[in-house]
Amino acid sequence: MRCWHCDTELIWGGDHDCEEDTEDYQMETNFSCPNCDSFYLAYYPKQKEKKEEWLEGYKKWRKEQDEPE
Ligand SMILES: [Zn+2]
Repeated sequence: MRCWHCDTELIWGGDHDCEEDTEDYQMETNFSCPNCDSFYLAYYPKQKEKKEEWLEGYKKWRKEQDEPE
């Protein structure tokens, strides 16, 4: 994922389980830009029926982020 402002690859800052904060989203992920200091928050919606499938896709995406190219 790249910064909207300067197109620099963002740094993954961590996941936060937000099940207690909202009924609509199950996870909050934050990213920061090492170049212009922009900060991004991503909210993942609850998808109870497809949770396993969703988690597999998410793990795969995370792996790609951790091991670029
Ligand atoms: Zn930036």
